[in-house]
Amino acid sequence: MKIYHIIIIIIFSTFFINCESKNKKINEVNLYSQRHYNVDKKQYENFEKITGIKVNVVKANADELIERLKNEGADSPADLFITVDAGKLHKASQNGLLQKINSNKINIDNQLKDPNGFWVPITYRARIIVYSNERVKKADLSTYSDLANEKWKGKILVRSSSNSYNQALMASIIANDGIESASKWSKGIVENFARNPKGNDRDQVKAIASGQGDIAIVNSYYIGLLLSSKNDDEISAGKAVSVFFPNQGEDKRGSHINVSGIGLTKNSPNKKNAIKLIEYLTSVDAQKIYVNNSYEYPVNTLVEPNEIVKEWGTFKKDSLDLNLLGKFRNEAILIFDKTGWK
Ligand code: FE
Repeated sequence: MKIYHIIIIIIFSTFFINCESKNKKINEVNLYSQRHYNVDKKQYENFEKITGIKVNVVKANADELIERLKNEGADSPADLFITVDAGKLHKASQNGLLQKINSNKINIDNQLKDPNGFWVPITYRARIIVYSNERVKKADLSTYSDLANEKWKGKILVRSSSNSYNQALMASIIANDGIESASKWSKGIVENFARNPKGNDRDQVKAIASGQGDIAIVNSYYIGLLLSSKNDDEISAGKAVSVFFPNQGEDKRGSHINVSGIGLTKNSPNKKNAIKLIEYLTSVDAQKIYVNNSYEYPVNTLVEPNEIVKEWGTFKKDSLDLNLLGKFRNEAILIFDKTGWK
């Protein structure tokens, strides 16, 4: 064999090796997720089983993930950004980090959709009032704004204002009632605190059970999680309270809700897989897995909430464009600071 034969063989074999390694590109999808619930692992394993697409997850808080997406720019490996707050999805889209999602396989309650098409909700939750079965009469409860009434002095339990759930609630109050009214409300709530804000939503319910306060503002699914817990203390905390949906009635705007949602990144390298995962997470099967494990509300109209959640009854949801939760975020934080809600 002459030398040029050998050279030709080398050129051809590197060409074929290259082709092969390109085809062997891993079939995967990369998530940047703010969610912190056990049910998610179950969903991704199930999706992998059905499609053969490997799901890689990076978990952090929403602002950290947004910074990371900004810094990585066009080189970002991320396909999807998942949050527990429409406000943060709005922030990501405002920063040019998302692209519109096109699929005809996504069946979602119209009220929960992003009017701009940049994100898809996967679950929703209400920020509700829970009250002591022993010390509060249901008839005395009505609206969020009533919680600022001095009749509740020393009785209100709620976590710190650094938490995104409270920031979104305050943003909804600003969007509905204006800044001045929201500031007054915040001041009234602070004056009614049973204690300085500490702990998470579950801890507020436990504090009612141990008599430290009578009323708490929490996300709905935590009551489902407490009642279905393996821990006796958690079950008895859940049983010590009842659920109340504020702002119901014809003249009322409905209870504040927020979505856990998903956005497709601007430079998604595995776009087809990403859309498949969005379609899976909003499908009837996956929605059933959410409602029965995390006790969130389903976004797919063909699925009903878990039995525990259904017992609380149906409620009217605040119909605010959820993007406004992001728009008024900074104002919400300013109000918390000014009124001493730590
Ligand atoms: Fe949560």
